[in-house]
Amino acid sequence: MIYFVGAGPGDPELITVKGAKALSQAQVVIYAGSLVNPALLDMCAKGTEIHNSAGMNLDEITGVMVEAYRAAKEVVRLHTGDPSLYGAIQEQMDILDQEAVPYKVIPGVSSFLAAAAAIPHELTLPGFTQTVILTRMEGRTPVPERESIRSLATHRATMCIFLSVHMLDKLAAELIAGGYPDQTPAAVVEKASWPGERALVGTLANIAVKAHEAGITRTAMIIVGEALSAGYRPSYLYDANFAHMYRGDGD
Ligand code: SAH
Repeated sequence: MIYFVGAGPGDPELITVKGAKALSQAQVVIYAGSLVNPALLDMCAKGTEIHNSAGMNLDEITGVMVEAYRAAKEVVRLHTGDPSLYGAIQEQMDILDQEAVPYKVIPGVSSFLAAAAAIPHELTLPGFTQTVILTRMEGRTPVPERESIRSLATHRATMCIFLSVHMLDKLAAELIAGGYPDQTPAAVVEKASWPGERALVGTLANIAVKAHEAGITRTAMIIVGEALSAGYRPSYLYDANFAHMYRGDGD
């Protein structure tokens, strides 16, 4: 059996009990080295065959899975957060289907949830919004025009934006062009749940500058929406010290 396991956002204690069990019982583990915390591999038994998929292509990854399955070995494919979001697992599952190799998915704690916990703030607040949109800016992976940031912004729901912090100035401009007031609260959480976690809170008008000043360019979640303002006094929200709040043992 092949298990696609959500590793969680970083903290090794945020994998599920089921995921940890699968990891400890696997004979072969293929982990997404760019984002999965390698500390999770301490859960593997001695002698486990471990592959880092960062240097492997799709055929190599599924090749390891198919071969291991035919040798009656249990395999864990470890993905960051939850595998169903930006995990590129569909193409792996499709190949396993063609090869008649059985698989299961064990979900994980997605990074948008760890980011909400880091702020910490509720994303669905009565009177503000009851909707959370998970999305990304277009990069090398295309995004359909009907899902452009500008059109999603018209709902003014809470938005959690993946894979986009390096384009934060353009993102903020699109969100404002789509309908969020420029004083809408916006947060950037870098490496949520990792030891170096950092969380910045500001507004759409200033979040890009703050993230730039803090040097946050990757592995960060952007959360935007009026819901984040509840519980903050406006004087906090726009206060420079509060906006530069660093957490954890970052810097
Ligand atoms: N499947 C993953 C997402 C993979 S895409 C999940 O469910 O979280 C990779 C993107 O996820 C990164 O660009 C970043 O936007 C976000 N991300 C992953 N881990 C993160 C973390 N610990 N803190 C903040 N953002 C994170």
